[in-house]
Amino acid sequence: MRFPDHSIAGKNGLNSLVGGFLDILFPPGCGACRQSLEPGEKGQLCGECLSQVKFLSSPSCCCCGADLRPGAGVEDRFCLSCLKKQPIFNSARSLAHYQSPVSDFLHRLKFKGDTAAAFSLAWLAKRREDQKKLTGYDLIVPVPLHRTRLQARGLNQSLILAKLIFTDDINKIQPSLLIRTKNTQAQTGLSGSERRKNLRGAFSVKSGTDIKNRRICLVDDVFTTGTTVVECTRALKKAGAAEVAVWTLARA
Ligand SMILES: [Zn+2]
Ligand SMILES: [Zn+2]
Repeated sequence: MRFPDHSIAGKNGLNSLVGGFLDILFPPGCGACRQSLEPGEKGQLCGECLSQVKFLSSPSCCCCGADLRPGAGVEDRFCLSCLKKQPIFNSARSLAHYQSPVSDFLHRLKFKGDTAAAFSLAWLAKRREDQKKLTGYDLIVPVPLHRTRLQARGLNQSLILAKLIFTDDINKIQPSLLIRTKNTQAQTGLSGSERRKNLRGAFSVKSGTDIKNRRICLVDDVFTTGTTVVECTRALKKAGAAEVAVWTLARA
């Protein structure tokens, strides 16, 4: 793993050293249920917890990535919603459904600053490389938080996920390319149209940044109605991006 704890959580080197000794004395268990496991990869899960993860799998909508009911053939095709109106982004893919233990990991990361949970998510993503493959992009852009929320939370979960999951493309990650200019209320509990109204014009591309004809991979934690990534895509395409492929860890 290229990003040790201290580079994403702000721990100092001494803490990491102490942590290393503690790991030897008390090997970390399953990242979800904590039962003891043979020492192995950081963030690993026991077989039981792993079996509860519901990965997105084919057949899925070839545009937005939504699950399709297995039926005529197994080939991916458009879902009804994309057939009716194609989204502004070019494609969207997610790793797993937003349910325990994935939802617990995201909650721990977002609201408790628990970066150990991010390592478990990265461990899961590594097991399903096929689910995260969005090839051919020039830049990886995490969905930004508004400055005040970032200060309150202390971390941007989308940036942490991008760094831990797109380890081969670290130099393509652009954490400050997209700016959240409006400090909007949380989207939870809002209807689809309320979400759209809430987020309209909330994002813009940093002035002086040239993204003309660039292919962009936009990274977020959860895809719920897609409103956030649609608004981000709108800003990116307005600034000249040729293509926006969305990757989210989970799908609600
Ligand atoms: Zn477990
Ligand atoms: Zn679709």
